Amino acid sequence: MNRDKKIVVIGAGPAGASAAYYLTEQGYQVTVLEKEDFVGGRTHGYEDNQVRFDTGASFFTNFYPLLKELVNKLNMQNEVIELERKVGLKYHDQIAEFRFGSFGSFWNLPFINNKDKWIMIWNTIKLSLKRSKLDLVSPDKLAAVDDASIADWATEKMSENIYQFLIRPGVEPFWYFSCNDVSRAMTTVLQARAADAKFYTFQHGMARISEKLLEKSDLKLNANVTDIKVNGKVEIGYTISNESKQITADYLVMATPATITAKLLKAQLNNPIGHFISSQKYVHNVHATYLIDEELTKGMYAYYYPCGDWETPIGAIVFHKLKCYNSVKAPKGKELISIYLLDQPSKELMDSGIDNNQMMEKIWELGKDFLPMLPDSKENVTVIKRNEAIPLHEVGRYKQASQLKDEKINNIFFTGDYLSCATVEGGLRSGRWVASKISNKKITF
Ligand SMILES: Cc1cc2nc3c(=O)[nH]c(=O)nc-3n(C[C@H](O)[C@H](O)[C@H](O)COP(=O)(O)OP(=O)(O)OC[C@H]3O[C@@H](n4cnc5c(N)ncnc54)[C@H](O)[C@@H]3O)c2cc1C
Repeated sequence: MNRDKKIVVIGAGPAGASAAYYLTEQGYQVTVLEKEDFVGGRTHGYEDNQVRFDTGASFFTNFYPLLKELVNKLNMQNEVIELERKVGLKYHDQIAEFRFGSFGSFWNLPFINNKDKWIMIWNTIKLSLKRSKLDLVSPDKLAAVDDASIADWATEKMSENIYQFLIRPGVEPFWYFSCNDVSRAMTTVLQARAADAKFYTFQHGMARISEKLLEKSDLKLNANVTDIKVNGKVEIGYTISNESKQITADYLVMATPATITAKLLKAQLNNPIGHFISSQKYVHNVHATYLIDEELTKGMYAYYYPCGDWETPIGAIVFHKLKCYNSVKAPKGKELISIYLLDQPSKELMDSGIDNNQMMEKIWELGKDFLPMLPDSKENVTVIKRNEAIPLHEVGRYKQASQLKDEKINNIFFTGDYLSCATVEGGLRSGRWVASKISNKKITF
């Protein structure tokens, strides 16, 4: 492909930022249009003069190889901080300590018997030996294990208790969907990596990776794309401060969530990749953040996740300073705490029509029902509501993505976590696939 060609990328989340970075690196002229006044998409952080914390993605792991490669390439080593790994697993009134990547804490878990522990160990060893064939964000590799839901697979291959007390808390507090609805492919990788899992963040938040990737790009913020036409070239209409603008590109990279891509391309989606994009479903997520007295958090865990077969609307409760003192801003003597709700309760709250203050009060009540040691007194910070939080990784979706991820429509290419796996690494990797496809350059993984 000719490097004089003009490329427009729509969306400055990890996928768009990665596509723009690799294309710019190879000498293409790239313009990035982003509707918000910040980059990073769902990795965006909330900041005011009192507090700063991540509203979406908040960590990466030691099995995100591209992110690791980029940290080194972009000289970001000094910004990386390791996160606390100790979690309070909560089943009704019982709380058990669990440390990700620690055999001892696994072996001491009270909820499951020794027979189940041996079954879990045996299965984890078997999966660990297949690590090289597994990759959390590669649909090509995941297609081979994309054959059942997490719930069906885990209960059949291991046991109901292993599913309820070990598998669900390793998935649902991170992605908010139900393990009944998603492919076991992602869990297969998570289990294969569990023994030495480590978690990290960037000191100033996860959006840093997109900011760094876009440093050399022609980036237009507040540029809300409203219209796309293909007439040989691609004509893109967008608004900045209510002013209509137009830009013409030889190639367009769509790096928006699938639902937005589908809305913008409407008539052009009558083909296999178009059907795939139009059929994507997303998980809702509401999360509210508060300030409480730091004194009251003594002896508490950084995270509380539900486990077992009880009904709770809570996805996770996170104490930001306990999780990583150096990556949040909060007033002296105060702790920032976020309560994340699962998909359905999030949707119900968003549909209920209540205002943000009422929503924050309601979520605090739900949080207190889950974790009675939360204090009555708190200060509301903000509530984040997302209709398109996480693409739903239904059974068979990785197989389809593996066949379709390199498809384009006319001069339009596609990238985003929905083509990979809902992680920052997934976004980054799929952005790089697009860049390598446009430039015909081979990639290493
Ligand atoms: C609550 C939550 C927690 C998460 N936690 C983690 C985590 O800890 N670790 C992890 O690895 N992943 C996590 N994720 C997932 C991760 O954030 C996503 O997988 C990743 O951000 C996807 O990147 P993307 O570029 O595909 O999409 P996005 O990040 O959604 O970026 C899309 C971009 O397109 C822009 N856009 C949309 N419409 C238009 C338009 N009309 N014109 C111009 N621009 C437009 C958006 O503003 C956005 O910037 C989490 C997600 C959520 C919601």
